[in-house]
Order: sequence, then C-alpha cells, then structure tokens
Amino acid sequence: MAVKKISVIGLGTLGTQIAIQAVYYGCEVRGYDQDPEIFPKTIQKVKGMMNFLGTGPTMPVEDWEKAASRVKVVKDLSDALQDADLVIEAVPENLELKRKVWGQLDSLAPKGALLATNSSSIPVSRIESATQRLEKCLNIHFYQPAIGMNIVDVMGGTKTAPEEIEAAKQFVRSISCIPLGVKKEILGFCFNSVWRAIKKQTLYMWGNGFVDFRDIDRAWMVFAGMKQGPFGLMDLVGLDVVYDIEMSYYSESKDPRDIPPKAFKDMIDRKDLGVKTGKGFYTYPNPEYTRPDFLKG
Ligand code: NAD
Repeated sequence: MAVKKISVIGLGTLGTQIAIQAVYYGCEVRGYDQDPEIFPKTIQKVKGMMNFLGTGPTMPVEDWEKAASRVKVVKDLSDALQDADLVIEAVPENLELKRKVWGQLDSLAPKGALLATNSSSIPVSRIESATQRLEKCLNIHFYQPAIGMNIVDVMGGTKTAPEEIEAAKQFVRSISCIPLGVKKEILGFCFNSVWRAIKKQTLYMWGNGFVDFRDIDRAWMVFAGMKQGPFGLMDLVGLDVVYDIEMSYYSESKDPRDIPPKAFKDMIDRKDLGVKTGKGFYTYPNPEYTRPDFLKG
C-alpha cells in the first residue's frame, strides 16, 4: 500500500513539523488538535527555532512555511481521519492518554489505515490493545527538528504485519527521511536508544559537578560535526519532555541511576525548559553555541 494520505493527531512541537514535512513532499495531510489555535502558534515557535538551527539540506528554510498552508487543519477528529492511509499520533507522552486517543482513532479511521505513534519512549505494544487492528500498529518516531531532519525510527508491535512495516518505511523514504528499522522491541527504538545513553551520561557529569556542560557540547560539535551538542539538543527537545522520557525509563528499570540529577529537575521547576521558554542550558533566540568563538572555549 502506498501511503499518500496522512492524518496527524496532536499539532504541538512534533505533530506540526511532521505534518509540514509530509505535505512538503507531496502527501495530502489533515491535522487535528484539541486546541484549535495551536497550529499557527507552533509554526511561530518552530520558525524561531529554525532561525538559529536551519533545516538542513533537504528543505530550504523559505519553503517550509509556505508548505504549512497546505496542511488541512480541521476541528473534528473524524474529519481529520477521513480517507487516511496512515494516522500519526503526536499527543503528549502519557500512556493512558495515548491509549484513550488510540481507541478513538481505531473506531474513526478507515479500517485499512496504519496507526502510528510518534512517542519518544513508549513501545506500540503497550498501546496497540486499545485497537482492533494489531497488524497495523507501529512506532514511527521522528527526531526534533523534524523539518528537513532525516532519520526516523520504525518499530512494529506484537503482531504488526511485515508488509505494513515496509509500507511505513516506504512512507518515511517518500518524505525524504531515512527509516531506521528495529528487529526486536527495545525501549528507545534504534537511534533514540543511543541518544538516551548520551543524555544519561552527560546529565550525570554536569549535574554532579564534574564538568561545565559547554565543554561537553564543544567536544560533541567537533567530534560529531553537529551544529549543537547534547545540551543544546535537549534545549531544543524541551527539558520537561526530556525529564518525562528519562522518568519513563526509570519507571521501567527502577534503577535510581536512571533518575535525572536534582539540578535538572530544579531547572524544570523554575520553568527553564529550553527554546520554548527562552531559557534552558542556553538563552534564546541567540544561544551561545551559535557564536563564532564558542568552540575556542
Ligand atoms: P506538545 O506538548 O508540543 O504537543 C502535544 C499536542 O497534543 C498539544 O498541542 C496538545 O494540545 C495536543 N493534545 C493533547 N491531547 C490531545 C487529544 N486528546 N487529542 C488531540 N490533541 C491532543 O508535545 P510534543 O513535544 O509535540 O510531543 C508529542 C509526542 O511526540 C510525544 O509522544 C513525544 O514524546 C514525542 N516526541 C517529542 C519530541 C520532542 O522533541 N518534543 C521528539 C520526538 C518525539
């Protein structure tokens, strides 16, 4: 099945970007959020972020905002799901909420539609039983920023049909991204699992006073050739989102070493959440790591 008609449910930080990426590469996209005002607001936030980040080689910055106007945002969930080949759920990282939403998606979306969650940490095997279509449920996990970004984890649930996984990977390729398959269920999927190890170690080193976070970012920028390091990336994701994800790993492992350091929780309590609040490890819109002399230390 060629996936051409997409429904994105939840038009916050990630849903908005996924909708834009898909519409830009020729999909018909409908979007729904319980907050009818959120899509234009999120576009403005993403625009601010893109100003210092850029979108990479796959999508010129000046084009994506124009593409956003082709996303059909609707006020009614059943309208959003009409004719969908693939539904991508991007509501907050909360298992109960996701299961509730998936029950609605299953009853309203066409029987042949694939249902995917963009969850950062919840395997679809924990959500799929809210539906009657286990062979069509999967994780399709985009990374932030998802406009122009080009890696996406794809993981099936307990009964996902191999051809549905292949259809999902083909969709990912069709929107100029690279699917990263997962052969056997693992928390964190493919690359997110690697990113998680980096987050855990870097937060530990900073939070326990061993190093200045800027030095880790400098090292990473030079070592990996990226425009920002792990702390700059966490600011982009949102420190509250990072915290919730880390706590969901902890609730799985019950290993106290998986709890983020107190200094990190303190930042969240102060609402220093990263790019979205203008302050996290860095201050925005002009974070220190974008200065030409940052790498000199
Ligand atoms: P967000 O809070 O920015 O957006 C969530 C949106 O869902 C909000 O606009 C909210 O109004 C909407 N929503 C809540 N309940 C709803 C419902 N019942 N029906 C419709 N809409 C509803 O969150 P986000 O950062 O975009 O994260 C969304 C998902 O993507 C999460 O599972 C998260 O783990 C995952 N994710 C986030 C990132 C990131 O960097 N932020 C990266 C990869 C994956």
